[in-house]
Amino acid sequence: MNFLASSEDILLADSAQRWLRSDAFAATAPSWRDFAAMGWLSLPVAESAGGAGASESTLAVFIEQLGYACCESPYVPAMVMAAGLLGAIEGGSAQSLLAAAAAGDELIVAAPEPLLQASQSGSHPDGWVLSGEQPLVLGGDTASLFILPGYASDGVLRLFAVRRDAPGLGLNKVRCLGACHAADLVLDGVQASVLNEHDVPGLLQLMRDRTTAMACAEAVGTMSFLVEATLEYTNSRVQFKKPLAHFQVIEHYRAELLTACEEARAITQLAIAAIDTDPSFRRRAVSAAKVKVGEAAGLIARQSIQMHGAMGVTDELTVGWYAKRLLAFDVLWGSPEMHLNRYAAMAKDEGVAGTYLAQPQRPTAGIHLCLEAPNLEFRDEALAFLKTSLPAHLVVAQQLTTTVYPEADIADQWHRALYRQGWSASNWPREHGGPGWTAEQRYVWAHESIAAGAPIISPIGLQLVGPVLMHFGSPAQAARYLPPIVSGEELWCQGFSEPGAGSDLAALSTRATRDGGDYRVNGTKIWTTHGHFAHFMAALVRTGASGGRREGISFLLIDMHSPGITIRPIVTIGGDHELNQIFFDDVRVPATNLVGDEGQGWEIAKFMLDYERGGDIMSAGHRRLMAELREVALRRELSDPHAFWLDFATVAVDIDTLEMLELRTLLGCHGASPAAASILKLRASEIQQAVTALGIRVLGRDAIRWESRRPLYDLPGARAEQALVSRYLNSRANTIFGGAREIQKTLIARAAPT
Ligand SMILES: Cc1cc2nc3c(=O)[nH]c(=O)nc-3n(C[C@H](O)[C@H](O)[C@H](O)COP(=O)(O)OP(=O)(O)OC[C@H]3O[C@@H](n4cnc5c(N)ncnc54)[C@H](O)[C@@H]3O)c2cc1C
Repeated sequence: MNFLASSEDILLADSAQRWLRSDAFAATAPSWRDFAAMGWLSLPVAESAGGAGASESTLAVFIEQLGYACCESPYVPAMVMAAGLLGAIEGGSAQSLLAAAAAGDELIVAAPEPLLQASQSGSHPDGWVLSGEQPLVLGGDTASLFILPGYASDGVLRLFAVRRDAPGLGLNKVRCLGACHAADLVLDGVQASVLNEHDVPGLLQLMRDRTTAMACAEAVGTMSFLVEATLEYTNSRVQFKKPLAHFQVIEHYRAELLTACEEARAITQLAIAAIDTDPSFRRRAVSAAKVKVGEAAGLIARQSIQMHGAMGVTDELTVGWYAKRLLAFDVLWGSPEMHLNRYAAMAKDEGVAGTYLAQPQRPTAGIHLCLEAPNLEFRDEALAFLKTSLPAHLVVAQQLTTTVYPEADIADQWHRALYRQGWSASNWPREHGGPGWTAEQRYVWAHESIAAGAPIISPIGLQLVGPVLMHFGSPAQAARYLPPIVSGEELWCQGFSEPGAGSDLAALSTRATRDGGDYRVNGTKIWTTHGHFAHFMAALVRTGASGGRREGISFLLIDMHSPGITIRPIVTIGGDHELNQIFFDDVRVPATNLVGDEGQGWEIAKFMLDYERGGDIMSAGHRRLMAELREVALRRELSDPHAFWLDFATVAVDIDTLEMLELRTLLGCHGASPAAASILKLRASEIQQAVTALGIRVLGRDAIRWESRRPLYDLPGARAEQALVSRYLNSRANTIFGGAREIQKTLIARAAPT
């Protein structure tokens, strides 16, 4: 698996940006000769044809810069579509044409759709003539040669080469939106030479997909510029005596732009990685990218204009040019509807397994998602373990779980099985009892185990408290508390929220007063997930008497069986008991249970919340729910199947995107957002809600049937359908816990430069 930009790619991006934005290039649009002189035309051409033989991901890095500079050039139609076709054709004149294109001696463009009729004619040496109309051939205004597909009466689709000055070729230049140019071609018995006649439909499809993926990269560049320009404008434009960026509604718009841009970049990376893989994976990835990037492009273009006010609608500002380019992107290379329909058909027929699971294991040059040794062996080991150690009753129990985490007894059985294997603390280092896995191994394990239906084990001890103790705890605390977290003998809950302190956590008032070797704790915590199962609470308490609100807060480990603790169960709208209110009445806690120093609690809480927001691989769970929903949907009679599968596809595209965002964060990709944890939390929670809303659509009128038995797996003969309504209701919490949606948006906006 390789998802990181190479240092050469980063250098290429920097140098392209410098040149494209230099005074020399900015004054007049760079000519095709300039492109050749810079060596950019040789990038996509194989070394055997005199090119640089760059990988698809390197090419995408360069093309993104063209988009960032809103560069007026036919690079994508010429050097991706046409050069790609020529590169794939063996024999004939294709290779010499390609060499001429790489040197800048020819500007060759191709029409992606076959609209012309071809017929054999004895009067021409090559024996073929083309007739018909081929509108809007991109780059056609300046091309020296055209590659045009045409059907002959034998039903075979062939690719033809036609010279610009060929007799009978009518060419009308078209000025287009978004700094591109095209030509409408009218052909009346134009002499044409055959370039290829073997599997031309397949070849055209491949090149259309490849060009769509590269067009997505170009659009990502364009939207990056637009987002930067809008951030800058809202930082500097003062209204009502303060910069626009200081209004919360503008902050949240900024967060939406930044998130959309990150998502577009992530899903484009998938499409680029999929170009050289098998056709069905490629189709799925490219259509996902076109849908998602198109959606982001529309949002960014519209909202950037809006946030520039009247300036945004003038032709004097670059914002409008960039917005027009994004509009052009949206309608080219297959409409959003076509791509969503294509994706939906695949999602219905083949399902939407994890992107790495769905793709063939064949590494390509540049970025790719294939596993290589030793991760490949690890995957086999994981599959073998799941086959032998995951009992069917646990799979059923997880499937019938309506809450965020399954009941403690279900999670406990799986936790202990994992512990026996040494795999319970998947993100921990070996020295503390973890398996010491690499990021790739953690990702593989999350997807494989969840796809197999394994229960989700509570992350509070393993993913939140564990890392806190490793980082801030004393050696004695680590020795006492970490081993039983790994083994599953001791469960934890998180005691942050209080009735008076929700989003504003620093308003907390539960107090710990020093009394000899103990603290005496008084107050109450609320919304404590699994507080009724937990052995310990990781609590934020107030120890300081003065100073700022965040200064007097400390991080205390509290034994939940201590005298003075009472627990009030809270039942959710989904009918489940997962939450509690905890009351502390003079509860004595040994002072040795203070983590870090008194007053360090706020710093530790921020560290823990980052793990809570971005530490998990949420896409794996979403996919499992989608797989279950698909099964139910295929069994049932849906009221409007076409509309349902389109909505299903929309959510699946979001999950593909989330998975790529998670990978970028997990693998530490160059340029990943500084607010990655909040972006992941925001999108993962919204997607969870969208997935569960599909569950209601699948049920239709049957959604009003209510089953109150909990846990549902205790109900003899319970069916997956019966979990859907409660799951939908409980999922409303996803955009509230761990920091509400609005708080995440504020954090994303504030991580951007001001
Ligand atoms: C299922 C579930 C499990 C939970 N588990 C735990 C747990 O184990 N431990 C724990 O400590 N806590 C837990 N919580 C609590 C959770 O962290 C809080 O609910 C959350 O921080 C929001 O606080 P609040 O509910 O008091 O909402 P409030 O802070 O009152 O906010 C209400 C709404 O107002 C909006 N809002 C709030 N502040 C702002 C702002 N500054 N700008 C714009 N809009 C704003 C948001 O839409 C928010 O949803 C859980 C909550 C739920 C629902």
